Amino acid sequence: MLNIVLFGPPGAGKGTQSEKIIAKYNLTHISTGDLFRKHLSEGTDLGKLAQKYMDEGKLVPDEVVIGMVDEKINSTTDTSGFILDGFPRTVPQAQALDKLMEAKGQPISGMIALEVPEDILKSRIKERGKTSGRTDDQDENKINTRIKVYLDETLPVASYYEKQGKLSKINGVGAINEIFDQISSVIDKY
Ligand code: ADP
Repeated sequence: MLNIVLFGPPGAGKGTQSEKIIAKYNLTHISTGDLFRKHLSEGTDLGKLAQKYMDEGKLVPDEVVIGMVDEKINSTTDTSGFILDGFPRTVPQAQALDKLMEAKGQPISGMIALEVPEDILKSRIKERGKTSGRTDDQDENKINTRIKVYLDETLPVASYYEKQGKLSKINGVGAINEIFDQISSVIDKY
């Protein structure tokens, strides 16, 4: 089993690279952002709860996210592994994920962290906002909040995996295929 955490700030290219990883390694994609947006569009209680946090660029409370991921992982049978995209975003989420995967006898293989400078992130997110329809991509304040939340609450998750010897950093600036080649060479060593 390959269980990969794809990590990076908003706009780092996690969604783009996830698609390529899934196609090559046949993994199950778990994007918490996508799952919340699906709940939102279906009008579920979970979607309504998440909406106010997402609208402000803040994190949805840990117990809500962890419950959603737990349900998704435990209801997926017959997979060669998971790619986690946008999760874990806090250290308590990372600890909960470790527990969950250890209980299944399928530990996290490693974290791949995409590194992109802040000015490039901002221009990518605004560009995406022109077509994504995502209101959180179209507002300067919301973009700034998300980057701040990333630096304050999410960046410590990289150290969490580094302490376990599971962190690989990749330069997220450049051609999509070149970045993907570097990611593949990390995955091939797991
Ligand atoms: P991006 O990485 O581009 O900011 P995502 O699609 O991953 O966007 O997430 C959109 C929003 O969904 C976040 O700003 C946050 O409100 C919520 N969200 C997604 N994943 C998590 C998570 N693991 N923990 C808490 N909130 C989350």
